[in-house]
Order: sequence, then structure tokens, then C-alpha cells
Amino acid sequence: MSSNSMADPRRPNKVLRYKPPSTENNPTLEDPTPDYMNLLGMIFSMCGLMLKSCPATKADMLNVHLIPHTHNDVGWLKTVDQYFYGARNDIQHAGVQYILDSVIPQLLADPTKRFIYVEVAFFYRWWQLQAESMRQAVRQLVSEGRLEFINGGWCMNDEAATHYNAMIDQMTLGLRFLQETFGECGRPRAAWHIDPFGHSREQASLFAQMGFDGFFFGRLDYQDKANREQLREMEQIWRASASLQPPSADLFTGVLPNGYNPPLSLCWDQFCSDSPIVDDASDENNVNSLVGYFLGTAAAQAKHYRTNHIVMTMGSDFQYENANLWYKNMDKLIKHVNTQQLNGSQVHVLYSTPTCYLWELFKANLSWSLKYDDFFPYADGPHHFWTGYFTSRPAFKRYERLSNNFLQVCNQLEALAGPVARTGPYGEGDSTVLRRAMAVAQHHDAVSGTEKQHVANDYAKRLAAGWDACQVLVSNALASISGNKENFIYCNYLNISVCPLTESASTFMVILYNPLGRRVSWNVRLPVKGAAYSVTDPNGQTVPNEVVPVSNFTRAVRRDRGDATHELIFPASAPPLGYSSYTVSKTASRDLRSRLAKRIREQAQPRVDAWSPRGIQNEHLRVLFDPVTGLLMEIQNLDKSISLPVSQNFFWYNASIGNDDSAQASGAYIFRPNRSEPLRVAGRAHTYLVKNKLVQEVYQNFSSWCSQVVRLYAGQAYVELEWTVGPIPIDDGLGKEIISRFETSLQTDGRFYTDSNGREILERRRDYRATWNLSQTEPVAGNYYPVNSRIYIKNKKFQLTVLTDRSQGGSSVADGSVELMVHRRLLYDDNRGVGEPLLEPGVYNDGLVVRGRHLVFLDTVESSAYQHRLQAQQEFMAPQLVLAPGGGPSFHRGQRSLKQFSALKQELPPSVHLLTLAQWDPSSVLIRLEHQFERGESANGSQPITVDLLHLFSSFTITSLQEMNLVANQKREAMKRLSWRPATGAARRQPYPPLDPLGVTLQPMEIRTFLATIRYTGPSGGQAEL
Ligand SMILES: [Zn+2]
Repeated sequence: MSSNSMADPRRPNKVLRYKPPSTENNPTLEDPTPDYMNLLGMIFSMCGLMLKSCPATKADMLNVHLIPHTHNDVGWLKTVDQYFYGARNDIQHAGVQYILDSVIPQLLADPTKRFIYVEVAFFYRWWQLQAESMRQAVRQLVSEGRLEFINGGWCMNDEAATHYNAMIDQMTLGLRFLQETFGECGRPRAAWHIDPFGHSREQASLFAQMGFDGFFFGRLDYQDKANREQLREMEQIWRASASLQPPSADLFTGVLPNGYNPPLSLCWDQFCSDSPIVDDASDENNVNSLVGYFLGTAAAQAKHYRTNHIVMTMGSDFQYENANLWYKNMDKLIKHVNTQQLNGSQVHVLYSTPTCYLWELFKANLSWSLKYDDFFPYADGPHHFWTGYFTSRPAFKRYERLSNNFLQVCNQLEALAGPVARTGPYGEGDSTVLRRAMAVAQHHDAVSGTEKQHVANDYAKRLAAGWDACQVLVSNALASISGNKENFIYCNYLNISVCPLTESASTFMVILYNPLGRRVSWNVRLPVKGAAYSVTDPNGQTVPNEVVPVSNFTRAVRRDRGDATHELIFPASAPPLGYSSYTVSKTASRDLRSRLAKRIREQAQPRVDAWSPRGIQNEHLRVLFDPVTGLLMEIQNLDKSISLPVSQNFFWYNASIGNDDSAQASGAYIFRPNRSEPLRVAGRAHTYLVKNKLVQEVYQNFSSWCSQVVRLYAGQAYVELEWTVGPIPIDDGLGKEIISRFETSLQTDGRFYTDSNGREILERRRDYRATWNLSQTEPVAGNYYPVNSRIYIKNKKFQLTVLTDRSQGGSSVADGSVELMVHRRLLYDDNRGVGEPLLEPGVYNDGLVVRGRHLVFLDTVESSAYQHRLQAQQEFMAPQLVLAPGGGPSFHRGQRSLKQFSALKQELPPSVHLLTLAQWDPSSVLIRLEHQFERGESANGSQPITVDLLHLFSSFTITSLQEMNLVANQKREAMKRLSWRPATGAARRQPYPPLDPLGVTLQPMEIRTFLATIRYTGPSGGQAEL
């Protein structure tokens, strides 16, 4: 036993005296009974009558809740399948199927034993393999609370690199399975994110809206933890929204004492080497010393918590494959520790679950302090900041975000087209494959980028299979709605200018499907080989177009995957929740062709540095460049007459390999530069200009592996910076972390602002934490935060906002500056378990190339939110391009063909986002409406708004409507969460107004979720007149 210094086993009574918590601040006397409705709700909704099914505790003792659990990563060192089956045990011994096989008989044999299970992606698979007799036995265990589901998402999602849309979806998927399989007994009451590397405020807000009564996690900054232990603030109420009316986003939050591991020396899994409890007459008998040690450990732990209940997490990664080892020893522990009560011990040990522990905390009826900020960044020691994974695997992070976009399109068209989407002329369409692949990708070692390379490849493969299945569905739906069975083509490589159809066909159709509830404009950009084209809109009107050469930057990334010479650009728009179909034809006009060809030749062979750029501009913006360096120099907002010097360049931090201060190297999790000043990729950029009526672009070449296009499309209110970075050279033996940095003269007072999972904004202050006095050890890495969709800086008047197209790490390490880490390539492992350096070989095995976009807004502070909210929404729910050669036969004989379609009877107001429209079952759909502004951030946007939901859709008629909680596993009116009392006084719960389908009102940042029973009005009937 390595820790028996904590207690003196010879004098156990010395350490087992338990002092009840002080009642000084305990308002029990004022209000001895919990809220009436609250208690009633608990009793009626708790499975198996909670009060009876939770193990008995002792009011006058310290109750130690042993929580038997296993942590099953949905992919990390091994793929999901390898973990489930126990394959590749040479990498890591782990087999989830055996864990469940082993635990269930233990529970069946002894009614006192408990187990919790968390990751539904695994449980679902195991369940499919069970005979009915086993299923019945498991249902019984669940109904009696002996097997309890906790958290209940498909996975335990990451919180730093995830977007709220996908977080909600993955939780909905897992919780729905539990609800349908186990009914109310399968509805988890506690959220459980024991392993994610830092915790976002939006996650807490969403958990509250999902109906959870409390939340437990394991990882937080080491300084924060020490401070909380001392202040006994390990358990608090997290007020997780600045917009939603308390207590709707209040979440009781507990920090677990030892991450998610058992106390030192008390691990009895087959993977552990701690001594078993020997209580026979043997020289190995260790009962006295173990019991003494345990009592000492419990007493020490109790000092950091406020009630006479504490938890011990008895389990860890992939443990319980041989559950008997754990349970046999815990049985003995319970027996021998509790026997000591006869000798005056006041410690009571019991098998328990997070829900039962939470219930005891609630019954303690204390007031709890409030937390308002979040738990980023996470450091587990000096110099150990887990801020690298905010950017790790940037290509996968983009693919994940793009896949969410396509999943929403797929969901919508499935709901709009009805059964034909699933069984149609193109085969069996299925949204499930992508939904599950996306849910798996949310795991805290998936989108986070902290998995081994072969596992990252597996995640991408799963998403690709999901795209395939959804493309069949989308084709079926589009044929049915448009009336034409076209040969629909999906070009997935448009970002490197590859699309065989548009390159070769003399005429083709471009269908622009818009998943937003408002009309959007979009600049279509397609690879071509011709010189001149004509484009017509759905009404046959000619649309202006331009042809520009494919850049050398793109050719370098594309290599031999295509040979388009040019890109056709035209402005398009699509109606809300619908599509517009454009026709593109190569023009025969020799005159025009030769004229254009000449111009294109000129553009295609720009003489490097022949043009010293001064500026580009459209009707809203002017962007100036330094004529000597070619770097961005100034941005002017012409509408508001704002000019701001803004320089932008690419830099790299030299990744630390460890030094005298700390052996910590930069790796997949950890960001640690070896010095605070990054190095410039280049002091000047070689530039050339492409300029026509539709777009103005400055091409900047910084090096053989770093380039950028600064772009202004006609009519756009932002500057687009499309960067291409990689393969990052490592032949100099240096790991590199590449940033794009903007520097301005704005006085920002050490403050900057980042979004939380794409929703609410949090203020960040350099070298500062809101809840403790920070001792900063890493001036750069310790100031990095997750940027899921936007980061901004501002002074009293002006704001510079940068939108991202994926999650990245970002900061403002000096006043007036903003930086985003776009790519990283590292030569050393950072010693957090993944065991591989983040080398990312890419398709050609010479290093990954990544391309992405930053959208930059310069505006007044008061106007900025209106700009960035709407644009960010259009980024993650971008229009989907579907192509076809045209001329396909009718879907139904005589069916009118529709070149334009909207499934909405009226456009949604800009502040309302149709977050979800998805088939739920054959006769119902899931609908989520979201107010996308925060309280007070926009004069126009932040007002409450009312929508007529009943008459919103034209593709179907809503025949009945039920409002649900955020994950649709509970009716909203039945949602009665435990009312925890904040130290600031109880927040008055607002009664839910009765649902009026004709007038659904949304408050700032509110999401309302509905299940609607529908009747289809026919595949092509009922669409709005346009
Ligand atoms: Zn994990």
C-alpha cells in the first residue's frame, strides 16, 4: 500500500471521527422541506421509486458511495470496433463486450450490487447480440436501479472542439435508444463527463435543458482544483447561460475527487496490481491495514466536500472485463469497514450510483455557490496546458463540421420528401449511417484529434460511408420533389477544384439546396475546362458569371487528382428550406470565347510581383495591402466609414520537446511552444491579383507550404481569407504549430471574446481566471481557448471579428491582436496516453495539407453581433450543391418539374434558426426552433420573437404537436428537475406557458423542441408559390 501515511492503521478510531458539516450557512431551519413539486416530481418520475431503490445511507455517519463504473472510449488507441470486440489487444487490452458480459451476472446474483453504464454506442451493439432472456433480465436490473444509465449519449462527447448542433444530436441519439428500450427507467438523471479535457459552459447549459439533475466531471485545472478543495467548492451550481432565465440553464455540478479513478491502492481490476483484500487466517491478511487506510482516505476526502456523503469512482478505462475481481474485493471492503461501526466508526460504505449520490446531496438542502464562467483551459500541472487539441487534426475537424452540415440537409429532405426518400429510384436512402458516424465523431478522442492515426482514419471512413447513404436519400428526395429523375452527382472535392461532370459536360444543372429558414445568397465556384459559359437561374434569366484560372496553390494541393484549368463563378441564391436550380452551358460564341480566353491567359500567367497590390474593394469594404511586403495592411468598412490598420501574417511556434522547467513536450493534447515569440513564415508574400465584376482576390504566396487568397465577392460584408497550409516541413527536426495572426491598434485591455460550442460568447482575459488567482506558467499556451465558430476583439467603438470554418485554438496574446492556430505537426508524443507524435502523413504520406477560411468583419460594436450571428449560421448550415447533367425523365408521368422549391410557407425571421427538422418515426418529425441571439447583443436581433409553427411548412400538415425537452426524451411539461438552491437565493421557476402552435415565442438563446405528427401533402404538392 503506497499511501498508508494518510492514516495510522494502528489507531483507526483516530481518523474515523466524522464531523458533520457546519450548519452555520445551512438554511434547513428556514425551509425544511424541498420544493413540493420538486419532491413530487422526483417520487413519481424516479425509476423504481428512487427513495426505495437507492441504497440506504446513515444520516449520522459519513457515507462513502462506491460507484462501480467503466470508462469506454468510443475509439482512441483502437477503433470503435476493435474496442467492442476486444481485437488488437496488442495495442491495448480492452473488450467492451466482455465487460457487459461479465458485469450483468454479478448484478443478477446480488441485489445490493450496482453498476453504471455510459456509452450507448457500445451498449447498443451489445444489446443487439443478446437473447430475449438476457434482455429481460437486463430490463429488470434497470427497472430496479441496479444497472443505471448515466449521461446516455451515443458517446461522451468532447467539449472543446464540438459544435452544439452535433452535441445535441449525439445526446438525442443515445437517449432515444435508452428511452425506447427501457422507458422512463432508462432516462439518465446525471450527466457524466469524467474524461473530457476541460468543460464548456454551453455543455452545461445544454445538459440543463436536456433535463439532467446534476453533472459530474473529473478534469479541471490543478490550481482550480486545489482552490476548490480548500474552499469546499467542489460542488456548485453552474449558471451556464447569460441569456436564459434562471434556473433553466442552472446545473448542479460536482468535481469528482480523483478524476474518475479509485483511490490509490484500491484498484481491484485485472489490470491493477494492488493487493486484494485477504481476510482469511493467512500471513497475507491485510484487513486491518486496508480498513484503516480506507477510513483515513475517506476522512481526508470528506474535508473537501460539504455534506456527509462522498463518492469514490471504483473503475477506470475499460475495466470490469473480469468484474468478479472488483466486486469480490468491494464486498469485503464494505463488510469490514462497516463492521467497524460496532467499534464506534462513523463511516458507512455502500454500493451506489451518481443519481443516488446526487439525491443525497439534494436532501442535504444546502445553498450552493454559483459558477458563471467555464473550465477552460485545462492544465494538469505547471506548463501542461491541454490547448493543443483545440487545433489537432484540423482536416478532420473540418470534415466533421461539414458532415454535420450534410447530415442536417439529409435529415431535412428525409422529413420533407417522406417515405420516398428512403425507398426511391436511387435505392435505399438512409440517414442513420451518417447520424451514428457523426455521433461517434463527437467522442472526446475523435473530433478532439487525440486518437491514434489509424483510429482517425476509421472515423473519417465512417463519415464517408454516412455521406454515401445520405446521398442516395438526397437523390431520392430531390427527384421526388423536383419531378425529375436526374443523374445526381455529388462533387466532394470542390475545395481542390475537382469535379468530372462540370469539367467535361457542355451543359449541366446546379441545384443549390438551402437548409436555412431564410433565403441565402451564395457564390457558386466550380472547376471547368472551358473558356466561356452562360448561366441561367430557375426563371430562365441570365446570371452574370466569370471564369478565373485555377491557382497554382490549388494545383499543388490537388496534384494528380484532377486537371481543371479554370473555375466558373456565379452568384446564386436559394429560397428558405428549399432549392434553386441553375443551368450552366458552355457558350459557342467564338468572339466571346476568344476574348475571354485572352483575358484568362493573362490572368493564368501572372508575373510574380508584376502587380504591387494596393487594394481590393466592393460596395461595403476596401482592403489595402502593403505594396512592399504584399501583406494585408488595412481594412475599411465603407458603410460605416471605419478604417482600421490590420496586419495579418502566418507564424509558427516551435514546439517544445521539453526543457529545464518541465519535460513536457507539445503533442496531440498539449500545446507548449519553446518560446513565446513565434517565427514568421515569411516577411513578405509574393502576390498577384484576380479582379472581375464578381470577385476581387489577392493571391499571397508565403512559402512552398503556406499560401492565402484574400477575397472580396461583390456584395459581401466580410473579407474572406482562404488559407492553405501544409505539408508542414519537419526535415529541420522542429515540430511546428502554425498560426494566422491579425494585429491592430485596438486598445483591448487584455480582453478578447470566444464562443462556446458555437453559441454564447465568453469574455477571456489574458493571464486571468475568474475564480482563482492564476499563477501563469505558459504565457501563450495558458491563454489559448477553444474557438468553435468565432473570436473577436473590441475597443469601446469598434470590433474585429473572425469567423472560423471549424474548431481551432485561438487567443489574443497581446492587446489588439487575434490569432488562430490553423495546423500543427509534431515530432514527439506528449505523454498523455496516445503514444504517437501528431505527424499526420496525409494522402501522399509527406504531410497533411489543410485548407480553410477565416471571415473577417470590421464593424461597430453594436452592429457586429447581427453580422457574425447570421454569417456563422450560414457557415455551419451552408447550401448543399448537387449537380446533374440534366434531361432526366419525369419522376411521375406528367409531374410538373420544379426548378425552384421552398418547404416553408414563409421565411423565418433572421433571429430564428430551424436547428432541427428530422424524421422521428413514419408519421412524425422532430423540430427544433432556436433564437440565435444573446440577450442584449443586438438591438434588432435580441428581441423575443414569435413564429407560427402550425403553418410554417408547406410539404406537410402538422396534425398534432408536443413540446419536448431538448433531447425529446421527456415532455416539456413533465420536465421537473431538482431545484437546487443557489447561495444568491432561489431562482423563481417560470411556469411553462401552454403551447400555442400558432404563436411559438422564443427568448434570446432559447431552443424549443417539438415532436409533430404530420400528414404529407404530397411530394410535389403544397409548395409555396415563388
Ligand atoms: Zn476517455
